[in-house]
Amino acid sequence: MAHATTAPAAVPGPGLTLHGLGVEGVNQCVHCGLCLASCPTFAELGTEMDSPRGRIFLIKSLAEGRIGLGDRTVEHLSLCLDCRACETVCPAGVPYGRLIEAARAEIERQRPGPAPRRFFRWLNFGLLLGHPRALRVAVGGLRLYQASGLQALLRRTGLARRLPGTLAAWEALLPSLPSAAARAPLPAVTRAAPPRRGRVAMLTGCVQAVVFGAHNRATARVLARNGWEVVAPPEQGCCGALNAHGGDHARALAMARRTIEVFERVAAEAVVVNTSGCGAHMKAYGELLADDPAWAERARRFAASVRDVAEFLAVEPLRGPLTPVRMTVTYHDPCHVVHGQKIRRAPRDLLAQVPGLRVVELPEADWCCGSAGIYNLTQPEMADRLLRRKVANVARTGAQAVVTANPGCILQIQAGLRTRGLELPVLHLVEVLDRAGGEVPPGPR
Ligand code: SF4
Ligand code: SF4
Repeated sequence: MAHATTAPAAVPGPGLTLHGLGVEGVNQCVHCGLCLASCPTFAELGTEMDSPRGRIFLIKSLAEGRIGLGDRTVEHLSLCLDCRACETVCPAGVPYGRLIEAARAEIERQRPGPAPRRFFRWLNFGLLLGHPRALRVAVGGLRLYQASGLQALLRRTGLARRLPGTLAAWEALLPSLPSAAARAPLPAVTRAAPPRRGRVAMLTGCVQAVVFGAHNRATARVLARNGWEVVAPPEQGCCGALNAHGGDHARALAMARRTIEVFERVAAEAVVVNTSGCGAHMKAYGELLADDPAWAERARRFAASVRDVAEFLAVEPLRGPLTPVRMTVTYHDPCHVVHGQKIRRAPRDLLAQVPGLRVVELPEADWCCGSAGIYNLTQPEMADRLLRRKVANVARTGAQAVVTANPGCILQIQAGLRTRGLELPVLHLVEVLDRAGGEVPPGPR
């Protein structure tokens, strides 16, 4: 995304840093180019500076003070999805995700943009993500917008598409919001079905808790059915993943410290997460707080206890008896599960245990759908190109439903399918496992 103002070049500190964040990892790149074929933006645009290797070169040049943050540089860096597909294939172990997040924090420091943009960022990153109560009020207002028929009217008349700025993109992505009762927080404790295996803590998330509370309830039920008592601390808030992704480094640090503090109070064997971006981010708290002597050790310990829900459940076979779920599904790998946490087999192994379920492999299953945090709002054109590619691949499978494991992917793929007139549900993995547990009638909803 280009901004109107030009600011002075980055001043390199000791070592290679951007926004005070170490980017020495750029020197690990041996320029082999093996990552190029895995990069969605390079595949779409074919330009070196929109490839991982090109962006690493830009980040290194910035950190060494050889270039400044001109419009083109900002554009190339902003077009990156932070999907980390390049990390998966890199033989030199370049920590690309950390590098691009440092670069984004530097962009925000040097080029915060005009007042409306700064306000919008504060509204999202500061007010809504930072204060769960404010988020609940906002979602309540949006629910009213839907229930009153105003949304249907704006969509029917085409006015929704003419909303200013990124509001049109926000509006198009808005899912059908749950009622106040369905937005109720998860109980602080969900008892384990006997025989009890132990106790886990669960991140209920910020947006996840109010928009996809059903996924949280399904997660707790599946864990409980498999012998785990589930503790959901009511005082938890946002983990800071979206802030870090969007270059809002200071708030991301504060949210990480708060999350650690809240979960340290729960004596649990693991912190289970059902949103991929949050899980990948919380597993990186150790690196995020490495330079803070008061928090470094606590952050490392906490990060080691974080588990994606699929990775956690797949360790043991699912407890039966399992109810058949008779349908054909295809699985989309969220970037921050498959690339951010290197979890590829666990969700497939779990789906394979569900009787009656047929799973067909999705072509380019680990290719980003264009959601990527708030990328579909800040880079709608590229996000749409990637979404079209994803939807075309889904259509090729003949599946009756798409299964994935991240709210952003669910919203994005749902919107893409809707636009192309395909009436396929997009389910979270835990919803399928929950149906197999027998409490919800099987089959597409
Ligand atoms: S694969 Fe790794 S080492 Fe090779 S160009 Fe890409 S980032 Fe650099
Ligand atoms: S994170 Fe994704 S979009 Fe960005 S350079 Fe790597 S592969 Fe390309």
